Amino acid sequence: MSSISKPLLQWFDQHGRTQLPWQIGEKSHTNVYHVWLSEIMLQQTQVATVIDYFNRFTKHFPTLSDLSKASEDDVLAQWAGLGYYARARNLHKSAKIIMQDYQGVFPDNIEQVVALPGIGESTAGAILSISHNQNHAILDGNVKRVLSRYHQVKGHYGQAQTLKQLWVLAKQHTPNTRNNDYTQAIMDLGATLCTRSNPDCGRCPVQQGCQAYQHNTQTEYPNPKPKKNKPSRSIAMLIYQNKQGQIYLEKRPSKGIWGGLWSFVECEDSSQDIMRTIQQFDASAHINKILKPIKHSFTHYHLIINPIVVDCLEQAHGFQSINQLKVGVPTPVNKILAQLD
Ligand code: SF4
Repeated sequence: MSSISKPLLQWFDQHGRTQLPWQIGEKSHTNVYHVWLSEIMLQQTQVATVIDYFNRFTKHFPTLSDLSKASEDDVLAQWAGLGYYARARNLHKSAKIIMQDYQGVFPDNIEQVVALPGIGESTAGAILSISHNQNHAILDGNVKRVLSRYHQVKGHYGQAQTLKQLWVLAKQHTPNTRNNDYTQAIMDLGATLCTRSNPDCGRCPVQQGCQAYQHNTQTEYPNPKPKKNKPSRSIAMLIYQNKQGQIYLEKRPSKGIWGGLWSFVECEDSSQDIMRTIQQFDASAHINKILKPIKHSFTHYHLIINPIVVDCLEQAHGFQSINQLKVGVPTPVNKILAQLD
């Protein structure tokens, strides 16, 4: 066993998390649907946030088969607020593929799992390790942080060379026995002790071999991403409201930001574009009021949204009552809806 795995497994036996919703219940670890769903939700999202979404999602879609039969709108509505919506669309696509190509049984071969939409090598390894105790290494955000500190790995893991080095280390440390427990344990260590800020080294089971601890350099690792100033983009969102107080939402294309969710009509943030877009929608419409701008940050840019309420006089199709919305909407749209109350 490596210098990490032995003390880590001993620590896990006493302190590992065993009460998360996807770990509870009979044969919980072998419910690969739950393991898969939790791993996808946990990408880019903290456990504390995921718990409610996981419970709601599995109540709505108790089995993989239920998920495969759902409409995309229904899936996105259950995901709304969790962000990174490609995850939900890929989950849905994968469920259909599994029903069609694997008779509804989640594949247990890593190449087949990696071939499913939205599943990379680390997620596939985690799913098969936890649910089938197969011998795979993982390298999610928590593990990257632990290994970067433990070995004082130079460079940011967004850089290919650094990532490659981390994979080599992850594989070296992964034990042949109790693989499922080790996978849980190293994720738990990153989530509970070796946290992003203020790592709790005093209680850490691998403190003895940790280079960052020995040199008091925990805050330097992982090395930060080289800084780039994010550009900003400004748009107008037109909130068409009819005489009954209903609002108009349209479904966004499945590719691009907030793919498949429902949103307000948007256009460039110039008076010319705004007036032209309103005229095209309803020649008798007029601007009622301008709401507070909303800033929404994506990985590569900031989006400044200027919401404009437009009263429509004509009775056009497609208006919905705000308190009866059954479709998934992006977080900024929710914020705008709250301003309308
Ligand atoms: S000793 Fe500290 S920095 Fe090193 S792995 Fe443990 S918690 Fe992380």
